Amino acid sequence: MIKKLLLVLLAVVSVSASFAQKIQSPEEFLGYKLGEHFTPHYRIVEYFKYVAQASKNVKLQQFGTTNEGRPLLAMFIASDENIGRLEEIRHNNLRVAGIESGAVIANVPVITWLSYNVHGNEPASSEAAMWTLYDLVDPSNTQTQAWLKNTLVVIDPCLNPDGRDRYVHFYNSVVGATPDATQTAREHAEPWPGGRVNHYYFDLNRDWAWQQQKETQARVGLFNQWLPQVHVDYHEQGYNAPYYFAPAAEPYHKDITPWQREAQILIGKNNAKYFDQNGWMYFTKYEFDLLYPSYGDTYPLYNGSIGMTYEQGGISAGLAVVTRSGDTLTLVQRVAHHHSTSLSTIETASANAQKLKDEFKKFYDNSRANPPGEYKTYVIKNDNNNKINALATLLKRNGIQYGFGLSGKSATGYNYINGKTEQFNVGANDLVVNAYQPKAVLLHVLLEPKTFIPDSNTYDITAWSLPYAFGLKAYGVKESFKPATAEWGIVAPKALINTHAYAYVSAWQSVGDVKFLSALLKKKIKVRYTEKSFESAGKQFAPGSLLITRAGNDRADFDQVVTQTAAELNQELTPLSSGFVDKGSDVGSNDVRYLRQPKVMLVAGDGVNSEAMGEVWHLFEAQLGYPISLIRYQDLGRTRLADYDVAIFPDGRYDDFPSDKLVSWVRDGGKLIAVENAVGYLADKKGFLIKKKEDKKDDKERDKTVKVYGDRDRDAIREQIPGAIFKLNLDNTHPLGFGLPDYYYSLKLNDDVYELFGDNDGWNVGTIKKDSYVSGFAGAKAKQKINNGLLLGVQSLGRGTVVYMADDPLFRSFWENGKLLFSNAVFMVGQ
Ligand SMILES: [Zn+2]
Repeated sequence: MIKKLLLVLLAVVSVSASFAQKIQSPEEFLGYKLGEHFTPHYRIVEYFKYVAQASKNVKLQQFGTTNEGRPLLAMFIASDENIGRLEEIRHNNLRVAGIESGAVIANVPVITWLSYNVHGNEPASSEAAMWTLYDLVDPSNTQTQAWLKNTLVVIDPCLNPDGRDRYVHFYNSVVGATPDATQTAREHAEPWPGGRVNHYYFDLNRDWAWQQQKETQARVGLFNQWLPQVHVDYHEQGYNAPYYFAPAAEPYHKDITPWQREAQILIGKNNAKYFDQNGWMYFTKYEFDLLYPSYGDTYPLYNGSIGMTYEQGGISAGLAVVTRSGDTLTLVQRVAHHHSTSLSTIETASANAQKLKDEFKKFYDNSRANPPGEYKTYVIKNDNNNKINALATLLKRNGIQYGFGLSGKSATGYNYINGKTEQFNVGANDLVVNAYQPKAVLLHVLLEPKTFIPDSNTYDITAWSLPYAFGLKAYGVKESFKPATAEWGIVAPKALINTHAYAYVSAWQSVGDVKFLSALLKKKIKVRYTEKSFESAGKQFAPGSLLITRAGNDRADFDQVVTQTAAELNQELTPLSSGFVDKGSDVGSNDVRYLRQPKVMLVAGDGVNSEAMGEVWHLFEAQLGYPISLIRYQDLGRTRLADYDVAIFPDGRYDDFPSDKLVSWVRDGGKLIAVENAVGYLADKKGFLIKKKEDKKDDKERDKTVKVYGDRDRDAIREQIPGAIFKLNLDNTHPLGFGLPDYYYSLKLNDDVYELFGDNDGWNVGTIKKDSYVSGFAGAKAKQKINNGLLLGVQSLGRGTVVYMADDPLFRSFWENGKLLFSNAVFMVGQ
């Protein structure tokens, strides 16, 4: 007994002895001073793991893994009193927000969350993260220990490890024994695609709400389990710019509260105090606005937090660079600035802990009792389970409660499509969202038909209303209705009764249906599709509907493979017992065609817009599971084009495009898909019918008005469309329009537009008419220019086909309906 007690005592002594040991600073641990070298991600991870061992005041959590297998980490740092009750603090916070129920306790810390290095080639902040962590766990640092009394700090040291390492490996591999500060030196010119983006070339600071990337899904999942009161997103900007911190620039979204504005000033002024003391340059209230909901500042704001972006000048600066003013900017300085605002922000949070917590509570009380916006219920009609389930999944990932159906079965509301208020029926599988809920603000921002845009410049797109993005019919209802089923579920397809069918039919209306096609093709099942609508088994099937016939699939496991694949993907199938249909063309008719499986090539490399290219890559690889070959544009000359059926040219700058070789490949039966800028290159080229539509307005008239220099930014926006929604007229009898109604909501990102094709030329599939503007900012001149223009066109060239898409239907992968349009171009057009 005594022996046992002695062992326990010894264990206690040795544990406290190891904690009593001095914790190594990043410099001691890494062997160099922070800022002297770029630290590879695995070494940052090692330091965080080391501190997790050495300090009793932290908890390290791996909450996810990147596409390339690197860990995503969050370090929780708290006082002796709080570190052992993190779960209690977390649950309490969710109770305050009304997300969980139960009694609320008073004696809890304010939560400050610091997110570093979301853009991989803005790397100074991850270095600063190690320094900040060290200061917080250093027991001799009386200042930080005092803050931790009422503050819980969460550090995410690197939001984009794959991008960071892409940059750091590049830089470390080209820097000499002494860094070269000359701007034109190779080490300041990052090769394509650069480290800003993640593995699939997505900008993770545009993905918070859409959560298309696995890093975001993991991170926002964790964020929503905690809901911090303060959140900072660390960046770098061009190296000639001074430091930027809150308060942000106008426009602010209307739902941002007076307190959230006030707190930005409070925090900014404290940051300024330290910058003033050190004589460091900075600016506030400029350039970085708070509108688009998918940023690391706005997303937290719409979730009740004080969300902010901090920007150090430093992109491409390496370890040292000479700036425009002739000074040498070093990584050491950049790290020091980010470290300073990290500590200063924690200090402000600590000094205002009670107020921050009170206002956080008020935000959520208000959300539940008095949600913003005129509509208190949103009803989204289910015309395709896959589409409604995709929207349900997005809402769920954002913690927005929804259900299905309405007990009353009918309601009166604003119709998103025709803009009229009318009575409508609510089906059992229609998605219903009641606005009286904790996430009311985020819900309003994402679902309101038109975002209120104050009259000022913005940094990003100005329209994103989800029913348009998903191509779903929706109603905004002023009364508060609860859904008949209040749950987080998805709609399940009806079970198949007949599993020995003449043919199975699947809808072609959503990216989920394309995924099903892809899965069948992978399993070597032959698929057909109908060019014309038909009726059978009591249902109507639109052009594009997939027919999987027993004929041609002569294998014993046919029914099993088809029905099992459908079950795995939650796909609704209709079995046909006969090829004789009730209305329209029979299954064996000429209108039902065999779908040839295309071999697809996507152009990559220098000149190609990496994000636009990444959207296609991610769609095929991560969403559809369909093989795609990436070919460098520069290598096309020595590529055997005959190996491919489809070549995709995303937005980009292409020299000598199209080459004679490419044109002959199209003439021999190839299909060329050109998107955004790539379309412009084809204009007026021999054989290509596309022509740019120019602004017809007399230029002289423009010159007559006297311009004021100080208004130049404002003047420029009259000619711009930074991202607005337009309703295109769509020829949905053309394969490019299959599965869509006779309209298509397009996110217009520029004022590029083309002349309509003449009668005998190509197909005007997507055109823009007067009154087609729906939502978002579009300059008056730009609106005029695009009127009566062509945005989606198809032409034959020899035996091949050219598809023109003036806008990017896959923009940031959140324009769900665009995925079907794009899939039509690849799988349906020119079959
Ligand atoms: Zn950035």
